[in-house]
Amino acid sequence: MSSGTHGPLAIDGGDPIRSKPWPIWPRADAATERAVIQVLHSGRWAISGMCSGVPSVERQFAAAFANHYGVPYAVPVCNGSAALVVALQALGVRYGDEVLVPGITWVACASAVARVGAVPILVDVESTTLCMSLEAAKRACTARTRAILIVHLYCSAADIAGFSEWASANGIALLEDCSQAHGARWKGQLLGTFGDAAAFSLQDSKLLTCGEGGIVITRSSAVCDRLQQFRADGRVFTAAPRKGHPELEEVGTVQGHNYCLSEIHAAVALDRLQHLEAENAIRRENARYLGELLEEVGGVTPLERPPQISHPTYYHYALFVSLEEFGSWSIESIRQSLEAELEAFIEPVDTPLNGNLLYNPLRSPRLPPDALSKFDPAQFSLPAATAGAARCLLLSHRMLLGDRTDIEDIAAAFARVQAFARSKPGGGPV
Ligand SMILES: *Cc1c(COP(=O)(O)O)cnc(C)c1O
Repeated sequence: MSSGTHGPLAIDGGDPIRSKPWPIWPRADAATERAVIQVLHSGRWAISGMCSGVPSVERQFAAAFANHYGVPYAVPVCNGSAALVVALQALGVRYGDEVLVPGITWVACASAVARVGAVPILVDVESTTLCMSLEAAKRACTARTRAILIVHLYCSAADIAGFSEWASANGIALLEDCSQAHGARWKGQLLGTFGDAAAFSLQDSKLLTCGEGGIVITRSSAVCDRLQQFRADGRVFTAAPRKGHPELEEVGTVQGHNYCLSEIHAAVALDRLQHLEAENAIRRENARYLGELLEEVGGVTPLERPPQISHPTYYHYALFVSLEEFGSWSIESIRQSLEAELEAFIEPVDTPLNGNLLYNPLRSPRLPPDALSKFDPAQFSLPAATAGAARCLLLSHRMLLGDRTDIEDIAAAFARVQAFARSKPGGGPV
């Protein structure tokens, strides 16, 4: 650590603090391999394939996930974006409705709402947690507000108790997006079990992944029936499957689409689910240690989370950087310097959705021209999201899956970049 603070920064050609590879993510072991190979030779690769006489892996995964969450229903889908689409539809969100969406999150949250024809209302976040502010949500609510899509972002969580109470008192559907918080708990209760439904992504970078995948959970059998239909072209599982025949039966009380998860993906997800709690525990312990070390470094503070979060998860370890304590370097200079020291991708935070390159509802051919102005992202003011994003950096959870020496490297990189920045105030490589 001490030698690391001398000599030029890695970004200026010095030796990096670290050149050892980071823990690999996503992970597989022999059991994951066996699970995939078994599906490959099973004669069934999709739930729309013929019933083979044993429950599909997709249904096994749904049952295991529902059981893990202590809810009666889970419906897997092909990705997290599809999970949001079918969940919004199953909760009754329709064309012209308004849905409250946090101003800072992955673009799919807003684009999924627009995809079902509803208007995403971008709501500002808490400056400390970067999750949707309940006060701002109350101000944004109108008679047309049909649902709230709250996101438990990075390593924090929205005020789920406050949102549940307010949503149910006002007859507004509450959808939790837990794509970044698999296994996080609020006073011991799993996030995702508070709302009317919860959507999860199982994409490559997520805490539980099968490459591309998603799942929705709910306690309502009516919502589950609609979820099934919306994700399988209007079909649901038949009550009496026959070997060699389709297991899906046609119902068609809604206009569905095909968003089904393949058996191969389901096998990976089912296998990896068994490791989620243990992996979360490792990340949690390493995050705790990192917090301790960064407190010594100073000038960086982890994203706050509500004190009710009894079991935090770390999709990204998000940090606020106090630029003044880094020689007033730009956040981009600090980010790139850290990347060079750590030989890792240090992510900038998602750009707030009122100015996000990826969020372009006005370019959607599907929206009616007369209603387009309602979708204009630029009309929403998101001061807390904008200020927070300008000084926040993200460390991937894979950096928290190793041992304490990995964590010491991260802290050493921050200390080194800070020492240099202070000796060269106002400068910075970019
Ligand atoms: C990843 C993510 C999604 C989208 O999931 P995909 O599987 O990539 O479609 C949606 N919401 C949040 C908060 C996410 O992090």
